[in-house]
Amino acid sequence: MRDGDLAIGVDVGGTKVAAGLVALRDERAEVMLRARGPVDPATNAGGIASITAVIDEVLGGLDAGRRARVKGIGVACAGNVDHVAGTLRRAANMAWVDLGIADALRKRYGVGARVENDVNAAAWGLATIPRPDAILPTNPTVAYLVVGTGIGAGVVDGGRILRGRVGSAGELGHLPGIAGAIDPAAGDVPCVCGARGCLEAVASGPALGAAARTRVEAGRAPGLLLAVGGDPSRIDATTVTIAAANGDPDALDLVAREGRFVALAIAVAFRAYDPHRVVLGGGVVAAGDVVVDAIHAGVAALAVRESHRLRDSRDWLEIEPPGADLGVLGGAALVLSPPA
Ligand SMILES: [Zn+2]
Repeated sequence: MRDGDLAIGVDVGGTKVAAGLVALRDERAEVMLRARGPVDPATNAGGIASITAVIDEVLGGLDAGRRARVKGIGVACAGNVDHVAGTLRRAANMAWVDLGIADALRKRYGVGARVENDVNAAAWGLATIPRPDAILPTNPTVAYLVVGTGIGAGVVDGGRILRGRVGSAGELGHLPGIAGAIDPAAGDVPCVCGARGCLEAVASGPALGAAARTRVEAGRAPGLLLAVGGDPSRIDATTVTIAAANGDPDALDLVAREGRFVALAIAVAFRAYDPHRVVLGGGVVAAGDVVVDAIHAGVAALAVRESHRLRDSRDWLEIEPPGADLGVLGGAALVLSPPA
């Protein structure tokens, strides 16, 4: 990775696709010329067209000289990715099957193209793109943990993305029964993966909303009910975190519980990978200080000894800042510093 290098990073999500030109300048990465658009989930052709539409927009903003300096295009893609073939095998809520993203981009733009799972790509960007605010050794071990619609992690260790056999390493949201360590009843909650007691089943954004609705319907959270105008169906993770930030005791209790669950996922990452840094992102974490404070408190509660490194999570746990563009940066990092 050298100063002056340019790459295009693309972030393909469930509903939106974003692209940006990433430039390395003074040993830091800068995202310029952003473009955003909707994704067409109905057909493979529509999927490719939605991705090329945003890349076209970014490239359209470049003069010929800068365009010639673009080293390639890296795509961070939600779902199950074959990084060797450069295809998206499948993704939740999409009709795409074996979407040949890298081939299509190489043919259309005449530059190299790479595809990785979005969480893995973000972890790669965090480990390889220089950042003045995070001083890391060469080849750091970084775990990027996402708590949003689902819970998962991307891990980089020794200069490599930890993928496993089919690319599903780091699925910390689906360790059966683990939620029971925080709340015995949670250990029996069924999960989409078929197991019970996974953290994703009790601590994803939708699960937090569902836990709040259950409490309201049992008449145990009057402040929350008031906050949604008396309609429990309007309660979701966002209404809970807003009510907690406003001091509602029941919402604060739900957020504290959420913090303990997320802390458990962090502790698993800490124990499994011994990282220099854990970076936490996703919609639930983006809700702000009330959630972040609950997570730090949850981690401290798990570390039994005062001296344990796990306890001082403010030293090694980093919260993804809003608008950090980790998907776009991670996509570009695939090109600027290609992973094995
Ligand atoms: Zn599960």
